[in-house]
Amino acid sequence: MTRLSVLGATGSIGQSVAKVLAEHPEMYQVEALVGGRNAQALARMARQLGARFAALADPAGGPALAQALEGTGIASGAGPEAVLDAARRETDVVVSAIVGVAGLAPSVAALGAGRRMALANKECLVAAGDFFMAEAAQVGTEILPMDSEHNAIFQALSAAPARAVECITLTASGGPFRKTSRAEMEHVTRADALKHPNWSMGAKITIDSATLMNKGLELIEAHHLFAVPAAQLDAVVHPESVVHGLVSFVDGSVVAGMALPDMCVPIAHCLAYPERLSFPARRMNLVQLGKLTFEAVDEGRFPAFALARAAMATGGGAPTILNAANEVAVGAFLEGRIGFYGISDMVARTLEKMAVGPAPSSVEEALSLDMEARHVAAECALALS
Ligand code: NAD
Ligand code: MG
Repeated sequence: MTRLSVLGATGSIGQSVAKVLAEHPEMYQVEALVGGRNAQALARMARQLGARFAALADPAGGPALAQALEGTGIASGAGPEAVLDAARRETDVVVSAIVGVAGLAPSVAALGAGRRMALANKECLVAAGDFFMAEAAQVGTEILPMDSEHNAIFQALSAAPARAVECITLTASGGPFRKTSRAEMEHVTRADALKHPNWSMGAKITIDSATLMNKGLELIEAHHLFAVPAAQLDAVVHPESVVHGLVSFVDGSVVAGMALPDMCVPIAHCLAYPERLSFPARRMNLVQLGKLTFEAVDEGRFPAFALARAAMATGGGAPTILNAANEVAVGAFLEGRIGFYGISDMVARTLEKMAVGPAPSSVEEALSLDMEARHVAAECALALS
């Protein structure tokens, strides 16, 4: 039996993890589950998966969670300390799938608790990648990328030694506005931006996919996961989302990771690694697909992508600032306080206003820079609304 904990169990990734586990109930014992605010959803998940411990981030939800789990024998807690306790419970695999920089402290707490971390949360690598990877190496935790592009690249990298890598390419679906003009994009609504053509995901990453900030965050994620310099990383638009990532080697060979778009596929890979788990995902039929298409990223219409690239090139605290400003901006857009291009405007203004120092070297440093950037971003939001 493999023991496993899931941070962010009630979200989109958490639910896909549950789908994979349901195919192999005899192989996994769920140790701890963490949720944000919804006590009922977390209790349901804990019962369904037979977890030993459930922790809710929102302290106010503690009594409701305890009540919903009464008589099940599942222990529960609420508040930041309970979340850290859940993350620290000894297990074999920890799935890190809390959204945003909120996942940083629990993920770092979990690093020492499991032999392996299946990492879906990209914001912790963007905000504190140097520190995070060094910490994982120091405690001996292997990081398995769960993000579909990075999972594909991780698998492709096994084809040759790291020194033979020439460059790495991530694909982007292009999101709902791939073919929308800049003039039209000025006026798109929250509902338009939440209609992703290929993937069903949480609201934050869905908006990031519409601005292509997601692809920029993913370049930074790849930079840390694979220790590849910024200049060797690039992204192309591929609307079919069948090729997820490609690794080009020095001899001209290119190894691509492919699958139909379904997060259960990289999840199954991470949960079973280095074995393989059978999973009834839809199978790829090349003849039915017929053709696959690729386009350049249009940085004129998608300035968020360019901002992320520039932050990666600047390095130091720039990606931490970028990530924090983007979280605030996406929140403001979802609440209808700013327009679609208000997101990249807010991120750009925040980066302009803040001096970039060295990369954070602890959770505390990352969160304090994150908080500072959130304040600056909130002032920019007022100016834009
Ligand atoms: P989601 O919004 O659906 O779920 C987020 C989860 O985090 C929920 O369980 C929520 O309750 C929990 N949460 C929120 N705030 C919290 C807090 N302060 N403390 C503890 N828990 C909290 O998001 P998602 O789409 O599942 O994405 C999760 C992460 O995985 C993100 O970082 C995203 O970028 C990454 N990711 C998601 C997908 C996908 O297909 N959904 C693909 C690749 C990467
Ligand atoms: Mg991705």
